[in-house]
Amino acid sequence: MVKVSFWGGVGVIGSSKILIEDDGWRVLLDFGLDYHPGHGLFRMGVGPRPERALADRLRTDAAPSIPNLYKASALNGTGLTGGSDGKTAVFITHAHLDHIGLTGWVDREVPMFASPETIRVMDGLQQAGESVEGGVPRFKPMLEGQPLSFGPFQVRRYDVDHDIIGASGYAVDTRDGLVAFTGDIRLHGRHPEQSRSFCRTVAGARALIIEGTSLSFGFADAERKEVEVDQLFAAAIASAPGLILLTVYPRNLERVAAFALASGAAGRTMVWPPGLARFFRAMGLGGIRAWGEDIPLAEIASRPAQFIVDLESADWPVMLDLPSGPASVFLHANGEPLGPFDPRWDVLQDWLRFTHTPFWPIGTGGHASPDDLRWMVETVHPDIVFPLHSLAPDRLMTPPGTSCWLPQRGGRRYGLTKDAPG
Ligand SMILES: [Zn+2]
Repeated sequence: MVKVSFWGGVGVIGSSKILIEDDGWRVLLDFGLDYHPGHGLFRMGVGPRPERALADRLRTDAAPSIPNLYKASALNGTGLTGGSDGKTAVFITHAHLDHIGLTGWVDREVPMFASPETIRVMDGLQQAGESVEGGVPRFKPMLEGQPLSFGPFQVRRYDVDHDIIGASGYAVDTRDGLVAFTGDIRLHGRHPEQSRSFCRTVAGARALIIEGTSLSFGFADAERKEVEVDQLFAAAIASAPGLILLTVYPRNLERVAAFALASGAAGRTMVWPPGLARFFRAMGLGGIRAWGEDIPLAEIASRPAQFIVDLESADWPVMLDLPSGPASVFLHANGEPLGPFDPRWDVLQDWLRFTHTPFWPIGTGGHASPDDLRWMVETVHPDIVFPLHSLAPDRLMTPPGTSCWLPQRGGRRYGLTKDAPG
């Protein structure tokens, strides 16, 4: 009998890890780290001890105690069996840390699959010195829609829209019906047709596992579309007489490319932190300039109206060397800090107050609005829906005929043949 269990993403945003088991065969969907700035034991510069990092994560439940998955060498003293059992495979939805952050610890003999674009992003991050912990993971590319047989399972990957290229949903055919997983998904991005097509493809699934990030935040705001973000960026360029400062979510490469195009058209040069510039070049983006390396800060300071300067949090003191102030603006387009839940948000506001710089949040999120989540559940109309990756999964509204099962974390394994979780 098929069993589904949830080893992350339960009551939290991120850290999705879904295990589907049948007769000893196992499919693991996503293998991420918690993303909860300001919370948890490992924060504010406190991290796992490098020589026993996985053991520290297992001990604190930041990594799940699943046998025959991790590299045996990283498990010394934990009592957990490592190495491959030959019957486990990992499938990754996208290259955000809360979905891939533990893949560096996976044993080399355990096959891991992802979209070709996800693998390209992972390679680019590796070249920019930003790999995941535990070692460089190796992924096999999985083309869209092509079935992959693994023991009693048949797995298919489909493109969906999220704020990173290569995002995927999965459809896992099991002996007890189809299990579909959205990964992180939205309908307000540049490719809503991909997300819609995925939902229609898996319509009638026995179980749908759906992310519910937007249910967490009080239903306060409608989601801006990506195209509106582009428009606001252009409007900001048109109206700011001085320097434009920016933080953009760097893994949203399509937005980075759109911003570069708009700034070029307006005669402004975008300049990036050197580390980000390395990542963008590795991803094949042309015309990338790094401040401090390709363009000295003094040159930017002498002609501020000709530049847009991206800053990461460690770079905020750079504002002291630049003519930021009332004639400039700081645009927030989902770079870090991502939102007020991050303790660095207030630090940024203090820097902007100190430099008298206006602040304009122009971004939009990577997660479907409550309206759009509802459309997805109605379109798939599964027998069972498991809402995941949310602070308030119980707020997902389900249509008649669909049972909502709120997953518990860890050992509880859900069979799919009953009308209620047994
Ligand atoms: Zn994501």
